[in-house]
Amino acid sequence: MTVDKPHVIVVGAGIVGASIAWHLAAKHGHNVKVTIVAPDVGGTATPNSFAWLNANFNNARPYFDVRHRSMARWHELIKEVPGLLELARWNGNVQWQQDEEQLDFCIKQHASWGYKAEKISNEEVLKREPWLADTCLPSSGWVASLPEEGSIEPALAAKKMIEHAATAFGATLRQETVDRLLVRDDKVVGVVTSSGNITADHVVLAAGLGTVKLAATLGIDVPVNSRPGLIVHSKPVSTRLLNGLAISNGPHMRQTVQGRIIAGRHYSGGNPTTDPAAEADIFFKKVQAMFRSNLDSTPLPSLELDFYTVGIRPDPKDGLPILGDCGKKGLALAVMHSGVTLAAFVGQTLAELVATGTKDKALDQFSLSRFNKD
Ligand SMILES: Cc1cc2nc3c(=O)[nH]c(=O)nc-3n(C[C@H](O)[C@H](O)[C@H](O)COP(=O)(O)OP(=O)(O)OC[C@H]3O[C@@H](n4cnc5c(N)ncnc54)[C@H](O)[C@@H]3O)c2cc1C
Repeated sequence: MTVDKPHVIVVGAGIVGASIAWHLAAKHGHNVKVTIVAPDVGGTATPNSFAWLNANFNNARPYFDVRHRSMARWHELIKEVPGLLELARWNGNVQWQQDEEQLDFCIKQHASWGYKAEKISNEEVLKREPWLADTCLPSSGWVASLPEEGSIEPALAAKKMIEHAATAFGATLRQETVDRLLVRDDKVVGVVTSSGNITADHVVLAAGLGTVKLAATLGIDVPVNSRPGLIVHSKPVSTRLLNGLAISNGPHMRQTVQGRIIAGRHYSGGNPTTDPAAEADIFFKKVQAMFRSNLDSTPLPSLELDFYTVGIRPDPKDGLPILGDCGKKGLALAVMHSGVTLAAFVGQTLAELVATGTKDKALDQFSLSRFNKD
């Protein structure tokens, strides 16, 4: 007699849901059957992200450790999923977003935690990023160099993970919206979509802001702010204008694998104004001014605004991810900002938790129950 494997539904196909589903199918497929349910593939916040993979600044040590660990897992993951290697870049970051004192503290603190972080001179920056205008560099004459950091094209990465989970490991994709969760005897036993019920032994809500709504239908409060951010995207440029990330006290910029310069203010915008199109135009001029007009008599290629995005970050109220149990049997949550950086860690540890019941100790700090403590 064959016994059916436990069935896990992952709701959401952004970078977080894709990574959880991939890890479930690829690493635990002998134990579980996986279905991904989402109306799209690639996510909602995910395609509008700046997608910087990093563990620096404003960190408590335990959170730093998890982000750093996730960066290490990304290095492995991009070799395990076909097509991901081409979407990732690890060319480091030059950063002068903060004032000198903050930057100095950030470098010392992170270096003492084993993260590569050092001061480099403006001259050194221009050797690494020769297209940057020297006028945009700080008057202090130095910036922070964080050579471990990188980026990935997140929506494409999510698509590749889901494709691989399906073709190589038998995961099923259902392009449908979940209307509500199916509950029996106080346990979540599946989801309800417009085409009917899909039953399961476990449901993982990795639906970004959608998680908040779906959890609320069971009376579960997931305290998340929705924080918008504007990103401008240039038309693709065939010249490599940026090797790594440039996190200035003005624009934060990187060049995508398609050659676009993408940029935001403070990672990717604070709250955009009521006229984001006008704001994008003005901001893009600042981005253009970050580059010199020519390099060794080669003129700067035409840098034109192609489009802008306003993405909404699913940002838990204390800034830390909400992961794992939520007090309801059969249901796990995965909602966070910095989800691009964290997806590799979250995919690995949540898949293990759901498929085997083994809880990585690092997950303890991220439980929903922390919000119920005084
Ligand atoms: C402007 C901006 C800049 C950012 N910069 C960075 C950065 O530099 N580095 C970094 O690490 N992070 C960054 N982030 C954060 C990061 O992008 C997010 O944390 C991450 O994309 C969240 O991914 P997700 O898969 O959880 O959610 P999403 O990408 O929002 O995906 C949610 C998925 O759930 C599905 N869904 C929702 N409701 C339902 C439902 N009822 N039924 C079925 N499916 C449903 C959606 O269709 C979608 O597939 C940024 C975000 C923004 C907006």
